[in-house]
Amino acid sequence: MNIKQIQEFQKELEPVFTGVLGGTSDEQIMAQLLKVQEELGEVTQSVLGELGKQVNGKTFSDAGSEMADVILATFALAERMDIDLEDKLVAKMKIIKERFKS
Ligand SMILES: [Mg+2]
Repeated sequence: MNIKQIQEFQKELEPVFTGVLGGTSDEQIMAQLLKVQEELGEVTQSVLGELGKQVNGKTFSDAGSEMADVILATFALAERMDIDLEDKLVAKMKIIKERFKS
């Protein structure tokens, strides 16, 4: 799997997501932004469950699934905002690599 496949997946499902989100373009962006935050919260719940800091029966395995949701929701948000996340990831990795180069 590669990033282009994630972007194609998002484009394929965008009409469905748009129907679910409803509203104006700005409202859809805001709703998708909340979805990213919701999924990140689910990662937190899973980690806290595994570590025994919260009684919810969740595990690191659940955290992995929720991390996938975070990534997919983030790509959906980027798509909605006309951001090429692959380009941004490549640029960011270059910056980080330069920053920590010894
Ligand atoms: Mg989820």
